[in-house]
Amino acid sequence: MRIGAHVSIAGSIELSIKRAMAIGCDTFQIFTRNPRSWTSKDLTEEVIVKFRNSVSESNLWPIYAHMPYLPNIASPDTEMWKKSILHLKKELERCDTLKIPYIITHLGSPKGSKKEKGISNIIKALNKVFKNYKGKCVILLENTAGKDGSLGSSIKDICNIISRIKKQEKIGFCLDTCHAFASGYDLRKSEIITEILNGIDECIGLNKLLSIHSNDSKFDLGSGRDRHEHIGLGCIGEIGFKALLREKKLRKVPFICETPVDERRDDKGNLEYLRQLLKKI
Ligand code: ZN
Ligand code: MN
Ligand code: MN
Repeated sequence: MRIGAHVSIAGSIELSIKRAMAIGCDTFQIFTRNPRSWTSKDLTEEVIVKFRNSVSESNLWPIYAHMPYLPNIASPDTEMWKKSILHLKKELERCDTLKIPYIITHLGSPKGSKKEKGISNIIKALNKVFKNYKGKCVILLENTAGKDGSLGSSIKDICNIISRIKKQEKIGFCLDTCHAFASGYDLRKSEIITEILNGIDECIGLNKLLSIHSNDSKFDLGSGRDRHEHIGLGCIGEIGFKALLREKKLRKVPFICETPVDERRDDKGNLEYLRQLLKKI
């Protein structure tokens, strides 16, 4: 089973690889740039080469990028929607230059408009993005916690969106456990986990589930709140993570921790905790 974490690119993007190795990752995730800005510096040839070489010399695989937070492909505002498509395209190109095979994105928010309008905007945007796209990067849609008006707290909705993308080989699903729990899926129960996996399998095929964001939740089932907690110390708890790890189909999917770093534990600690748990089940 492959386990990793989201790591920082502070200083320069290729430093993320050293950081990932230092905490014992098999796989990792990064932002390729500041996620809270519309602008980004172009990558220099030197940095690109360094990044690619260090990755190929390591055993780290696969590498995930996470989309910046500002683009919103569900937006009812045409200007914003177009700008978001442009930035998604840009980020795909950036991933291709770095040879990153997957980019994870949230679905965005329909703001004042109806959910259906938002969903149709997302589908249109993705089909537009892929239309003349010749690269290799695959977009993974991530489920969200729910209460902030953003789309994607329903796994079924995401699967339906994915099923309506023309270039099927370019789209997949990233399941965030904290977000799923916060939006009402009780991951402490193995039958709920089975139900989720069967639902995904029936709609888009389980081979489209390409990443698990492995986060415990600070708040309780259905809270709608997106607050990550150390594995086993939150409301999903050891019971929930044992149930998740017991599911053999899930063990084939890379787990990425987006957990806090504080006096209780760091990233290395969460990876170790998951590996220990895996031995106990
Ligand atoms: Zn995310
Ligand atoms: Mn996540
Ligand atoms: Mn989150």
